Amino acid sequence: MDNIRREVPNTFDLPEKIERLGELAYNLWWVWNPEAQKLFSLIDVVLWNQLAHSPVSFLKQVERTKLNAVASDPEYMQRYQLVMEEFDHHLNRKDAWFSKTYPELKDEQKQIAYFSFEYGLHECLPVYAGGLGILSGDHLKEASDLGLPLVAVGFIYHQGYFSQNITEDGWQETRDFYLEFSEMPITALYDEEDKPVTISVFLAEREVFARIWQVQVGTISLYLLDTNLEENSVTDRQLSARLYSNDPEVRISQEILLGVGGVRVLRRLGYKPTVWHMNEGHSAFLTLERIRELVAVGLSFDQAEEQVRKTNIFTTHTPVPAGNDQFPIWLVEKYFSHYWEKLGLDRDQFINLARHTQPWGETFSMPVLALKLSDQRNAVSQLHAHVSRKMWNFLWPDKTENEVPISYVTNGVHTGTFLARRTRVLYEKYFGPDWFESLDDPQMWAQIDDIPDEELWEVRRHLKRKLLMFANRRARQRWVSQSVHPVQVIAGGAMLDPYTLTIGFARRFATYKRAYLIFRDFDRLLRIINNEQMPVQIVFAGKAHPADEPGKLIIQQVYRAVKDAKTGGRLAFLEDYDMNVARHMVQGVDVWLNTPRRPNEASGTSGMKAALNGVLNFSVLDGWWHEAYDGTNGWAIGDEKEYSDPNVQDDKDAESLYDALENQIVPLYYSGRPGDNLSHEWMKHVKAAIRTLTPQFSTKRMVKEYVKNLYLPGMQSDLDPSEKS
Ligand SMILES: *Cc1c(COP(=O)(O)O)cnc(C)c1O
Repeated sequence: MDNIRREVPNTFDLPEKIERLGELAYNLWWVWNPEAQKLFSLIDVVLWNQLAHSPVSFLKQVERTKLNAVASDPEYMQRYQLVMEEFDHHLNRKDAWFSKTYPELKDEQKQIAYFSFEYGLHECLPVYAGGLGILSGDHLKEASDLGLPLVAVGFIYHQGYFSQNITEDGWQETRDFYLEFSEMPITALYDEEDKPVTISVFLAEREVFARIWQVQVGTISLYLLDTNLEENSVTDRQLSARLYSNDPEVRISQEILLGVGGVRVLRRLGYKPTVWHMNEGHSAFLTLERIRELVAVGLSFDQAEEQVRKTNIFTTHTPVPAGNDQFPIWLVEKYFSHYWEKLGLDRDQFINLARHTQPWGETFSMPVLALKLSDQRNAVSQLHAHVSRKMWNFLWPDKTENEVPISYVTNGVHTGTFLARRTRVLYEKYFGPDWFESLDDPQMWAQIDDIPDEELWEVRRHLKRKLLMFANRRARQRWVSQSVHPVQVIAGGAMLDPYTLTIGFARRFATYKRAYLIFRDFDRLLRIINNEQMPVQIVFAGKAHPADEPGKLIIQQVYRAVKDAKTGGRLAFLEDYDMNVARHMVQGVDVWLNTPRRPNEASGTSGMKAALNGVLNFSVLDGWWHEAYDGTNGWAIGDEKEYSDPNVQDDKDAESLYDALENQIVPLYYSGRPGDNLSHEWMKHVKAAIRTLTPQFSTKRMVKEYVKNLYLPGMQSDLDPSEKS
């Protein structure tokens, strides 16, 4: 990185004694360290909550007197010292898992490049849409915890992902907003002439430039591309405006920028990755750029292809067609006719790299390209591996379905990000101060039984109150702003009750997620929730993609039910699902509901976030739950049957759902005494869930598997020296 300057804006005017808060603000390490967050919130908690927990905005706006006050408070200063020691320790460790486990790897053997279209790190950096982004964000945080030599590339979308507004009639309206980069924990890169560091790619006939922003995630650097530059035409400046455009020209341009441009970013900054991980097919053009580099230094296409393939890793994330990008052939010709000769290929050879014959014709498929040009390929759960092998079997016509070379690494979640502070304090009290380092060790979790039911229950109740207060506060704000009809205040959760069994349902409103399933027999649902002795309440949240009309109709259907007076205010819909809403929900509810149509949920991760906080999963046996459910750690919806008629499937699954609620879940919850009293039987399930699910479905387990099974073969492959130079 010679001659490249990372400019950390020095805009904060902080008292010298707490000056390093500025440094902390620009390293997302604080996201998974609640004591570090406390350093901000203790200064002014109201402002901290108002500003979406963005430390950069916070430090700019907080009153000087408040800063002075904490700087002269010995108790605050003691916290400050401890956090800074931890922070320095994290950044300078020599004994993290990776270097301890692989001391023999030389530096030039072990650089990992990670590519993803979106990163969900925190709500103050809203450049993610859903599960894929959260997973990428979690991967980076865990890479920092485990000390991986990893560097990541993505996009900064200057319009973020839209914010959601629900009308009185339940229609999702989207509000676009422009991100204010100076309010975000990102820093610009400048060259020796003080110009922004840029790279360029050719898009059809024109050269398009992108500048590079850096996000620091513990020890991991994430570089984000941004085309909003004067050098570019007005249209090209919009290329990095939005996530998941529906316009194929925008989409292919973005993917060229990410794949081809992303390789150039790493080269420009002096990185020499040995293995390259494509998180979903959006970045698959990187395979071509890597081959082009090698052909340019004299290798034949076949030699180059072999080297690149050996060191590529591809993770497929969904069997749903909308998640598997493919482009019309004419579009690929338009954008790549100048490029294939640089690979030593003609048109047909080039198209063949990714040809996918569909009933409606030929397409150029990004997952096909990635599958063919990666020796390591994985799905994201055991069941998803079966589905993927079947789906991609045609690429290996001489192999049976079981022999298709796609392995799996089941997803996990970053424990520190989603664990409530209070739960963390409790675990630390009983598992000892080092528990966090061994959180993927199932042995350690046997100690869960040492925690008295009463103490765990007290934390669970606290977190539920916190969720309800959060919903209340938002409903009140909307009411005061006079922007809503009174019934929307109720729909926002104003009548939720802290002593009632609470179910959470939050995710993208894609149709296969079947948010409507619980309403299939509305009268039966009403009887369940309105049982005066054993009431139930349900909190919903989630966005539909702006172009997904069926998804928006499902939101409307849910919202209309939520508003219905017959539900007695026991249903609520929290608008504008993001990581902040997600954290409140996965921590605060009692039961986490998931009703996907099998086998479309490749993994799902929100249920894992719920489990580690002691929330019980109640889900279709799809994705991760298919391998996680053991009869004691939650409940299943339906058996593992798939019916060809979706209506029959919905009927059967809905019936199973109501039966389990009526006969098992609700009575168990209220089995203590009448009212919201501790049920030791319930707590048995809670403890079983925490014990069996937290270690297994953590990114600590997941990232270690990526290293051992997918990164290591590439790191140890015998490379031609020209690749390393
Ligand atoms: C975890 C999370 C998701 C993904 O959850 P799924 O269970 O995979 O649907 C989506 N959005 C947000 C904000 C999340 O935190």
